[in-house]
Amino acid sequence: MSLSFTVTERSDRLPDAEREAILADPGFGKRFTDHMVRATWTRDGGWHDAQVTAYGPFQLDPAAAVLHYAQEIFEGMKAYRHADGSVWTFRPEANAARWNRSAQRLALPGMEEADFIGALKALVEVDKAWVPDSTSGEASLYLRPFMFASEAFLGVRPAEEVTFSVIASPAGSYFTGGLKPVSLWISEHFSRAGKGGTGAAKCGGNYAASLAAQIEAAENGCDQSVFLDSLEQKYIEELGGMNVFLVHKDGRLVTPSLTGSILEGVTRSSILELAKDLDLEPQERKISLEEWRADAESGEITEAFACGTAAVVTPIGRLVSTQGEFRTGPEGEGGPVASKIRKALLDVQTGRAEDTRGWLT
Ligand code: PMP
Repeated sequence: MSLSFTVTERSDRLPDAEREAILADPGFGKRFTDHMVRATWTRDGGWHDAQVTAYGPFQLDPAAAVLHYAQEIFEGMKAYRHADGSVWTFRPEANAARWNRSAQRLALPGMEEADFIGALKALVEVDKAWVPDSTSGEASLYLRPFMFASEAFLGVRPAEEVTFSVIASPAGSYFTGGLKPVSLWISEHFSRAGKGGTGAAKCGGNYAASLAAQIEAAENGCDQSVFLDSLEQKYIEELGGMNVFLVHKDGRLVTPSLTGSILEGVTRSSILELAKDLDLEPQERKISLEEWRADAESGEITEAFACGTAAVVTPIGRLVSTQGEFRTGPEGEGGPVASKIRKALLDVQTGRAEDTRGWLT
C-alpha cells in the first residue's frame, strides 16, 4: 500500500513579490520554500503520519539518537521548469534506489520507490511557484529528502523511531560567464571512507569526515579536496561531493570504478550512458594519482572534470599536494569535452533537448 500525504497548506505563504525576488538570485541552499514533507516510522507501526505542512523547525528530544550516533541519510536532486510551464525531476528512481541502499547501510527503514517519489511530487505540487524557470539557464528547485533517528534513546542500536522529511530550496546558475576550473588539494592525512565503511552511502557522517580535508584544501589555496583510497593512498576516489572523470586525447572518458567507498553519482551514471552519443568511450577502472600526473604532463589526458547534481560538471584545473602540483586541462577555462557533456545533460534536464531515455519524471 502506498503512502498518501495529507496536505495542510499554510495561510501565510511568502508574498509573490518576495518569492520572485528570491528566485531572481537564489544562491544555493539558503532559502527554503513555504512547505515541507514529514513522515514518521516506528518499528511497530511502519510509515505513518505522512504530510505536507508549513516549513518549520522539528521538535527534537536532546537524547534523539541522530544527535549522538549520526544515524541519518539524505538525497539531493533537482526539479526544473520547462518552457511549457511543466515541472520535471531527473531520474528520481535512481535517487530512490540509492536512498534504499544508504538506508540499508545505516540500519534505517527502506521506502517504496513510489512513496519516495510520491513525497517529492507532493511537495513540488504545493510549492510549484518556487520552481524557477529553467529554460534559458540552469536554475532549478533543489529537493533534499532526509531521514534520521529521532527516537530518544542513548543505547547504541538501530532506532525504533525515525523521522523522514523533504525540504526544497531554489538554486540558481552555478557558473555565470563560463565554466571556471576548480583547484584540488590531494588529501594525504585524511580519508573520507574506508573499506567496509559508509563511503557508498549518502549519510551525513561522510560529509562531517570530509570537512577537515576541506579546511586543509583552503589553507593550501585550493577550492576542494580530492580523496584517495584509504588503504594505499594511491588511487583516486572522488571529491567531498562530486565524482571525477578524466578525458584522454583518444576520446576515452575514464572514471574511478565503484570500490564500495565511492558514492555512485546519478550524474556519473548518466555521463557514462551519454558518452557514447558524444563519440566518447566510457571506462570505469582504478586510476592512480601517479597515472593522472604522468598523463596530464604528457598531454595524454587533455581534461578532467568533477560532476554531481549541484554543479552538473565542473572542470578541474590544478592538483596540489605536499609533493608539488600539476595542471590538468586548459588554463583558466574548462575544456571542450566538459562543456559538451555539461550542455548535453542540462539540455535534457531543462527540456531544451528531447528526453530519449525516459530520464524525466
Ligand atoms: N559523491 C559525493 C560524495 C556526493 O555527495 C555527490 C552528490 N550527491 C556525488 C558524488 C554526486 O552524486 P549525484 O550525481 O547523484 O549528485
